[in-house]
Amino acid sequence: MRIDLHTHSTRSDGTEPPAALVRAARDAGLDVVALTDHDTTAGWDEATDAARELGVELVPGLEMSTRFEHRSVHLLAYFVDPTDPGLATEMTKIVDGRTRRTPLLLEKLRAAGVDISAADIDAATPPGAVPGRPHIADAMVRLGVVPSRDAAFATWLGPGGKAFVRRYATALEDALDLVAGAGGVSVLAHPRGRGSAAVLDDRAITGLARRGLTGLEVDHQDHSDVVRRGLRSLADRLDLVVTGSSDWHGAGKADHDLGCNTTDPAQYARLRELAGVGR
Ligand code: AMP
Ligand code: FE
Ligand code: FE
Ligand code: ZN
Repeated sequence: MRIDLHTHSTRSDGTEPPAALVRAARDAGLDVVALTDHDTTAGWDEATDAARELGVELVPGLEMSTRFEHRSVHLLAYFVDPTDPGLATEMTKIVDGRTRRTPLLLEKLRAAGVDISAADIDAATPPGAVPGRPHIADAMVRLGVVPSRDAAFATWLGPGGKAFVRRYATALEDALDLVAGAGGVSVLAHPRGRGSAAVLDDRAITGLARRGLTGLEVDHQDHSDVVRRGLRSLADRLDLVVTGSSDWHGAGKADHDLGCNTTDPAQYARLRELAGVGR
């Protein structure tokens, strides 16, 4: 059984609609795929319908924008009730923060001599998508400012970039509570990837495990073999679930092909059990 628990559709910054994502997952030989768009569950219905049709098992998820010790940390949440008022209110707050960031970011770009309009960004953002920097990057590529999303992040949009603007994100500890309160389980996404590696040391993760964290995304393209080994033994010590996933964004992220990392079936079974699914 091949299981991939981290992917993005056009409901956030992926380049394929949810149904096409599920089809691509089937074509890649996956039996189970999670849809984990940034800060939204809007793709779940379409993905679930496609999964039923194609005989793929769809795991409903999302990737929450959180903050821990002033750093951005991504938290994967699975099997939550999307109508839970606490979680729904917080997701609205995060999406509002994303929407408010765009004009500020465009102002910074303009000040640096890059003239991009709100209409340019709209044209690069799929309808109904939670807006993100990748859409701004896509607009910059279209206008010939940069050759790729990567280049846009390196020079302009990433931390330290000339047009970087901080936006609202939920305190990580609160996010753990919200996910649990909504009946779901939480997994730290690429904890030793760029950004969060500096703050998510073993001690910090130990504290988060005590606070209710369910698992660690150990196998991810941002992690070297050495990093994976360290995280695996930490997860073992803390009795955390270990996942492996692609973090697929369609054409939006190179070297993240569907199924390039997978989750062990026994670990997936544990994740479901801890979420109380299938009982
Ligand atoms: P945002 O959601 O606006 O905070 O933008 C962060 C998203 O941009 C991440 O989830 C990644 O998918 C994407 N991203 C971050 N760094 C890069 C990069 N160097 N190249 C392409 N995409 C990136
Ligand atoms: Fe993304
Ligand atoms: Fe992420
Ligand atoms: Zn992701």
